[in-house]
Amino acid sequence: MKSLSISWGDITSLKVDAIVNAANPTLLGGGGVDGAIHRAAGPKLLEECRSLNGCAVGEAKITRGYELPATWVIHTVGPVWVGGTRSEESLLQSCYRRCFDLVVETNINSIAFPAISTGAYRYPLDRAATVAISEAQEFLKRNGSGDKNIVFVGFNSTSIEAYQTAAWEI
Ligand code: ADP
Repeated sequence: MKSLSISWGDITSLKVDAIVNAANPTLLGGGGVDGAIHRAAGPKLLEECRSLNGCAVGEAKITRGYELPATWVIHTVGPVWVGGTRSEESLLQSCYRRCFDLVVETNINSIAFPAISTGAYRYPLDRAATVAISEAQEFLKRNGSGDKNIVFVGFNSTSIEAYQTAAWEI
């Protein structure tokens, strides 16, 4: 079965195959969802992240989930929004595509995404939600008959509404 859903709450509590971390290029932890994931996964996550030598904007790297209910964490680095003039949209699309590449390579069936770049990196939520939903739909179309469940996690009512509007409009 294939599904795309929107869920409210803390991504670290989800029992899915993989959760996505909106990381920074060092992969050594930070605030927001990154901090929450590292706190919930425990120190071994940071240890594995240290061995990865960082991650470029628009790229993604995978680690184990350690103490998280999720088996895997896919760390991706979203673009900082600077008015839409620095290829932010294609970089954000690339984040989702690279995550889906790892989904295929690692045989992941269920994955949960936070709203990448929409916190400290200030990407406008409505635009980010449109990118997220359209990339997921593209992936589901491309992926044929495989079992894939994609969850978009909203941390507050504004992000939930942005996902709902984007899903409605696409
Ligand atoms: P970025 O630096 O990519 O903007 P942030 O972590 O600052 O990353 O924010 C990304 C999004 O994740 C924001 O919409 C924020 O509200 C949301 N967020 C923060 N903590 C959590 C959490 N525990 N679970 C799910 N989403 C979260």
